[in-house]
Amino acid sequence: MSNPNSGTIAHQVSGSLLSDANTRLEKALRYVTIGEDAIERLRAPKASLTVSIPVRMDDGSLRVFQGYRVRYDDSRGPTKGGIRFHPGVTLDEVESLAFWMTFKCAVLNLPFGGAKGGVTVNPKELSKFELESLSRGYIDAIADFIGPDVDIPAPDVYTNAMIMGWMMDQYSTIRRQITPGVVTGKPITMGGSLGRETATAMGAFFSIQTLMPKLDRKPSETTVAVQGFGNAGAVLAELLYRAGYKVVAVSDSQGGVYAAQGLDIPSVRQIKDATRGIKAVYCRGSVCSQIDHEVITNGQLLELDVDILIPAALENQITAENADRIQARYIFEVANGPITSAADAILESKGIQVFPDILVNAGGVTVSYFEWVQNRSGLYWSLEEVNRRLNEKMTEETERIWVTAKELSCSMRTAAYVHALDRLGQALRTRGTREDYRS
Ligand code: NAD
Repeated sequence: MSNPNSGTIAHQVSGSLLSDANTRLEKALRYVTIGEDAIERLRAPKASLTVSIPVRMDDGSLRVFQGYRVRYDDSRGPTKGGIRFHPGVTLDEVESLAFWMTFKCAVLNLPFGGAKGGVTVNPKELSKFELESLSRGYIDAIADFIGPDVDIPAPDVYTNAMIMGWMMDQYSTIRRQITPGVVTGKPITMGGSLGRETATAMGAFFSIQTLMPKLDRKPSETTVAVQGFGNAGAVLAELLYRAGYKVVAVSDSQGGVYAAQGLDIPSVRQIKDATRGIKAVYCRGSVCSQIDHEVITNGQLLELDVDILIPAALENQITAENADRIQARYIFEVANGPITSAADAILESKGIQVFPDILVNAGGVTVSYFEWVQNRSGLYWSLEEVNRRLNEKMTEETERIWVTAKELSCSMRTAAYVHALDRLGQALRTRGTREDYRS
């Protein structure tokens, strides 16, 4: 099917991560007709806000930080997206990330549009008091721009549950009513959802489990390497280990370990928690004497001959430079943007199948949606209920994207974008098109 709409919906993007996302969208546009009105609507954000946030520092001085909140598109519901505190934050970056969130929410069929926020700051240089003042000041500045029916922030780079708690508290003070549904990723005691912390790993696990029979693979005969042993990677490694996969390698920023016969992941997690590192500490204690292992670099981990490779650390890990040396059969992207679009083409030519971030790591935003639903209904779910619903959602969307990829003979990545574009196109079309107004 060709797209009759020439031109691009691509918003001006800054970093390579976002320009890669755009390249992928352009590819998907070849398969889906979303209509010229929809393209026109998606060309620019619905609203962008720039604010100045004054903060009284511990030494008595006053500093003013720049903050942003962008609501890209709300045709599928209130907008949703994280807030990052980082020295590199710019309006252009926030607009681009909000554009990307619009697609991520559509892939999982969440009733949300896309948004993003940020403050240009190095939070590591702030004291706890200064960080709290900044978080509350940011909400003071954007309070009229957000709300549980309008725009719902969440954590992102260098923001966490405690910061979300302060933000919810500040918004509630301004509105003079407790409003837990204005922010997700909150501490449990402030209306957070059970299962939010493990949601990204759990979602990826459900997606992998859905695909294994389609790929004709059994966990016990499947070797796995995981790059990044943090919140997402370590939990996923353990879920896979407990389901019978042979996790042969894991790594963190310091390096990794490899054992051909499989690693004992719960022990690696224990050691990592106790020593803050993986490298060369795997074999302290009793497990050590039983399992031969090698210390490897992150570069070596990526190039291992394994069935499944899981980048779960940073963006741009597999590029045109190393793609040709990748030996894994399947790659599940848990990190955002770990593979560049140039590397995508090389992997495809080698027959390596990639399962995209926009689907695989969407468990986090899905449980954020569950948190918002629980806040609004006042009825809180058990962990089993959260995971049951997450499983249902991840399985359903993974199945749909698998079918789309088969029907269109395209990659799972292109199929995911096709899926999102189709849903966005429908939402925009129902508001009327040129044809409706001409007839
Ligand atoms: P995290 O900070 O908890 O963990 C990151 C891990 O990567 C750490 O173990 C760190 O040591 C390791 N790391 C850093 N640099 C590395 C390198 N060069 N090589 C190998 N490992 C390295 O972060 P996280 O929350 O687990 O997020 C990981 C990735 O998943 C990010 O790309 C993030 O955007 C993405 N993601 C996370 C969530 C979530 O809910 N946590 C949701 C969606 C996407």
